[in-house]
Amino acid sequence: MIIDCHGHYTTAPAAHQKFRDAQVARFNDPAAPPARPGAISDDEIRETIEKNQLRLQQQRGSDLTLFSPRASAMGHHFGDEAVSLAWTRANNDLIKRVVDLYPQNFVGVCQLPQSPGVPIANSVAELTRCVSELGFIGCNLNPDPSGGHWTSPPLTDRHWYPFYERMVELDVPAMVHVSASCNANFHATGAHYINADTTAFMQFIEGDLFHDFPSLRFIIPHGGGAVPYHWGRYRGLADMLKRPPLDQHVMNNVYFDTCVYHQPGIDLLVRVIDVKNILFGSEMVGAVRGIDPTTGHYFDDTRRYIDALEIAAADKARIYEGNARRVFPRLDALLRTRGQ
Ligand SMILES: [Zn+2]
Repeated sequence: MIIDCHGHYTTAPAAHQKFRDAQVARFNDPAAPPARPGAISDDEIRETIEKNQLRLQQQRGSDLTLFSPRASAMGHHFGDEAVSLAWTRANNDLIKRVVDLYPQNFVGVCQLPQSPGVPIANSVAELTRCVSELGFIGCNLNPDPSGGHWTSPPLTDRHWYPFYERMVELDVPAMVHVSASCNANFHATGAHYINADTTAFMQFIEGDLFHDFPSLRFIIPHGGGAVPYHWGRYRGLADMLKRPPLDQHVMNNVYFDTCVYHQPGIDLLVRVIDVKNILFGSEMVGAVRGIDPTTGHYFDDTRRYIDALEIAAADKARIYEGNARRVFPRLDALLRTRGQ
């Protein structure tokens, strides 16, 4: 079985974006009409999924995608907490509808109603709703709800602890995932995303978070940002900062996905990072949608790169399935109920 740990509903029906547009208009001008989620039919959802994510799953040969709202549209920086909550709930409810229509192909991962300057404890209720009521198995946690200005404390700060406590109680991991950039210096997917991945990892080295939460788990997407390429730097910094070796200090709790869009990058990832810490992911349909002229294949068709690795079949199975089932115990439990 091939589990893609990183997919977003980037193709949601137009009524969904209209709701967001109305929200933005209302926030900017209180005289504008109140925003309410528009009607979306099951057929509209089917059309947007079957032409895109489901078609690509089938063409590329993956079986199940851990599916979350479009990350770049989370837009935590915009508006206030009430705006973020209403948008977040609409997004998560839409993911639930996709999962209900295609339960064999998608499992839900939730967005959180984060907002700059608002305690993360306020996101606990939505996480709980999504996991306990909607059957989701994980969440996307934004380390920078300000959208590129980094006004929140590091992920290792006690600010985040009330949320981590609930993650541990529910036994769900978080993917560290920023949203859009409203800082012109940082292109969203080319700079802000990769910056955040790299930043989160360094925060984990500097802090002692996993001493306080031994079972807390994070996926750092986009291949771990710059971390695998600079692995010697991070091992050396851990040593300089008198932290334990990374395999004890961080790597029992942190996983990287395979959203690296060329073969040499995947080769390096697997050579540097222990296979137990790598989860298959593609982030399709997402950040990079074109065809690589040097290969003739889509950049984000990441299965090709894993298939081409010269590693044991058992290791490929861990990347494709085993590690995801370990990091997402609720996914494993769900699949077991289906005899999978
Ligand atoms: Zn993503």
